[in-house]
Amino acid sequence: KVRMRKSFLRRNTFVLFTVAAVVVGIVLGFVLRPHNLPLREIKYFSFPGELLMRMLQMLVLPLIVSSLVTGISSLDSRASGKMGARAIIYYMVTTFIAVFIGIVMVIIIQPGKGNRDSSMSSSGNIESVQAADAFLDLIRNMFPPNLVEACFKQYKTLYKKTVLTKDITVLVNASQGTNDTKYSQVGNNSTVLQTIQETVEEMIPVSGSSNGVNALGLVVFSIFFGLVIGNMKQQGQPLKEFFDCLNDAIMRLVAIIIWYAPIGILFLIAGKIIEMKDLAQVGGQLGMYMGCVIIGLLIHGLFILPLLFFMITQRNPYTFIAGLIQALVTALGTSSSSATLPITFRCLEENNHVDKRVTRFVLPVGATINMDGTALYEAVAAIFIAQVNDMDLNFGQILTISITATAASIGAAGIPQAGLVTMVIVLTSVGLPTEDITLIIAVDWFLDRLRTTTNVLGDSLGAGIVEHLSRKELQSLDTNIGNCEIEE
Ligand code: ASP
Repeated sequence: KVRMRKSFLRRNTFVLFTVAAVVVGIVLGFVLRPHNLPLREIKYFSFPGELLMRMLQMLVLPLIVSSLVTGISSLDSRASGKMGARAIIYYMVTTFIAVFIGIVMVIIIQPGKGNRDSSMSSSGNIESVQAADAFLDLIRNMFPPNLVEACFKQYKTLYKKTVLTKDITVLVNASQGTNDTKYSQVGNNSTVLQTIQETVEEMIPVSGSSNGVNALGLVVFSIFFGLVIGNMKQQGQPLKEFFDCLNDAIMRLVAIIIWYAPIGILFLIAGKIIEMKDLAQVGGQLGMYMGCVIIGLLIHGLFILPLLFFMITQRNPYTFIAGLIQALVTALGTSSSSATLPITFRCLEENNHVDKRVTRFVLPVGATINMDGTALYEAVAAIFIAQVNDMDLNFGQILTISITATAASIGAAGIPQAGLVTMVIVLTSVGLPTEDITLIIAVDWFLDRLRTTTNVLGDSLGAGIVEHLSRKELQSLDTNIGNCEIEE
């Protein structure tokens, strides 16, 4: 009892520290803001925050792989199949609900109607990407050809501008019989010249990859690897024990880093407040757009998801959420659900006592593919851009947006502002100008923090729900992982 009371106190002191860090960070940020510090000094100032990000990111890869492999290999294939199916159904249903809420908000509030604000100008040229190419990239990323490369590279089709002639046969025919060196291949008679003038520029895909962890590829590999090890029974035991131990060791590192988290969060938040553009000047359409996203996220995170949790588990969702405060604040501070993953694990296992066999399986998958906040934001942003362009969307187009927003949220990595990039898929699917993404860039850092927090909340409540639904399977399994207690 004394031990329990002690650990309760310790846990709450932590929560208190973390909340205090947010408050002090905000106050410090606003106190230092008027000093107009140069960017370099702001970077020096935020350095302790940058360190926190780096430390958390350092743990993510071994954590994803080891937790999935141990989690899955310690379940029998029937149990993991059922648990996986429940998790995927939960992810899909909640993501669609989030998209629906976003669409309702943006259609009711209509932030983009009326003339485009003069303050909003789109600039920049974002590559034209076809939705189909982006879908294929998503699937390509599930199967990385090189696992080591997947730790630091994602596949993304690159585009090369090329000049294509409209009618190559005319050129080839015309090229015969000419000696002119310049047009030696295409001829120089008038038909050829005319045809050359008719050439069109096109973006053609060339193979390529971009930086960033390919978490999706690692998740897919680890799931199958875990399944195979589980099926190997006794023969697979050494590998299982290896990953089991690796997982426990990483969680012990998390327990150390967590002491440093409040300091890092304080500086991350203060630094961003000093650096940010004046949000008070974001008026008119952009302000209303922000309002749509924020209200949508609040409805989804504070009412819909808790209601679902309550209906399924009959437990108080808000006590469960109280146990997640550290993870939610870390998501707010880092804008990255994958960097938050170590803390999410700890909150769920230590504070909310969710079975480790569930967290190890569903959390890494959730952090990679389940992003309710991102999906909601993608739908709102796409419809907002349509409104700004005076484009009336029909039911089919709205349906397309819902589907592609879901896909874009699955494809987005759990890193800052990944959703902004995958939004290209949503926009191209209904023929909206991709360069208009630049209209919403100014406020994206802020919305990113809120949607990341919603993403982490969705994953965590999902783990609680899957645990509840899987209690029969869990009871019947006598495998006992996680007998190494984590000490602080
Ligand atoms: N930053 C978000 C996350 O890590 C992804 C996004 O940009 O929406 O969950």
